Amino acid sequence: MLSVEEALTRVLARIPVLGSETVELTAALGRVLAELLTAGRDLPPWDNSSMDGYALRVTDTLRATREQPARLTLLGEVPAGAVAERPVAPGEAYRILTGAPMPRGADGVIPQEDVRREGEVVLVPRPVTRGDFVRLGGEDIRTGDPVLAPGTVLGPAALGVLAALGRPIVRVYQRPRVAILSTGDELVDLDASPGPGQIHNSNTYTLAAQVREAGGVAVNLGIARDTREDLKERFRWGLAADVLVSSAGVSVGDRDLVRDVMEKLGAELDFWKVSMRPGKPITFGQLAGRPFFGLPGNPVSSMVTFELFVRPALRRMGGHRRVLRPQVRAWAVEPIDNPGPRRGYLRVRLSEEDGRLLARPTGEQGSAMLRSMLLADGLAVVLPDTRIERGQPVDVILLHSEWPVSTDGA
Ligand code: AMP
Ligand code: MG
Repeated sequence: MLSVEEALTRVLARIPVLGSETVELTAALGRVLAELLTAGRDLPPWDNSSMDGYALRVTDTLRATREQPARLTLLGEVPAGAVAERPVAPGEAYRILTGAPMPRGADGVIPQEDVRREGEVVLVPRPVTRGDFVRLGGEDIRTGDPVLAPGTVLGPAALGVLAALGRPIVRVYQRPRVAILSTGDELVDLDASPGPGQIHNSNTYTLAAQVREAGGVAVNLGIARDTREDLKERFRWGLAADVLVSSAGVSVGDRDLVRDVMEKLGAELDFWKVSMRPGKPITFGQLAGRPFFGLPGNPVSSMVTFELFVRPALRRMGGHRRVLRPQVRAWAVEPIDNPGPRRGYLRVRLSEEDGRLLARPTGEQGSAMLRSMLLADGLAVVLPDTRIERGQPVDVILLHSEWPVSTDGA
């Protein structure tokens, strides 16, 4: 049976990166940049004052002391948004406010709290060093600098830089559109109450949410009955999307038709079993050039296999450079047991104590127990037939980037 690593390598080898589109800056948060952004101008665009004060020629202040201050004649005021009317000549100064362009001739600023004013004369009680309180044009970013590389996730700072460079529109990767199909005769959707033997479809909702969290757009194909006709028809609808994801019907029962139907539709299947717990029966292949994931039906198996295979694939399609979740080392506060011959991905809560991450199982780990996922901060990766004892280290795949900082049961 394939290992998780081998399976992921096979998946990623077959995943195309999607094309690009343009979006407005206000809609670009979290999108992935699809262009190399070079600066079209200097930032700041010109030398300007970093303080409210006086712009002057530093040579006028060389011998200034408290007793013998330099006396400079004021030419006027330069607020932010204005420019000085004329250059500063020897013996002159401008009042200047933060963010205003330095007047020509001036090469230093003294803050207003350091001087005295006598009408239109400013008394400077000490020498000013060249460049004091001046922000130089281009000191942050220079025209032509490469500023953001393709594959960068646009966060608040990146959006700020784009705005500062005057770019209202940015080129980003398309989001993968993911068709989601739940399968099973026992399933009813949320507009109906379950009859005898029926349950509500929950996988469509967890998967759609996972798709969105991974940066994709979820398309709901509804629930397919366990018949070849219904499965075929709905999988065909799914061809309008970039990726197909189904849940359930991939085991070896008489009603597990997904694999068979996929093959009849002409899919090339790459693998259908991976050595992991939960989630052994996971199918991956291509249908009409689109990646297809047949996930297992148990709610936890469906979520965990999505995490390990579909999420990295969607991120790769969406242009991300980083496709994997971060992994951390934590210390078990209770035993974490993985009996059996498959690699375990066990749900744990994390907390922090004395600078150390602690992991405790979220409770019963059955693959149908959604509660174990509900409480999980991460997946502890445990080798086959292994029991991590209390106090031993364990590697944990983080499912999100926040967790409580104390162990007080929050
Ligand atoms: P299967 O792989 O079809 O045998 O399904 C395995 C288990 O997952 C069964 O207990 C199903 O009832 C359950 N299951 C399958 N699909 C869903 C779904 N969409 N929502 C909730 N549970 C499901
Ligand atoms: Mg079924």
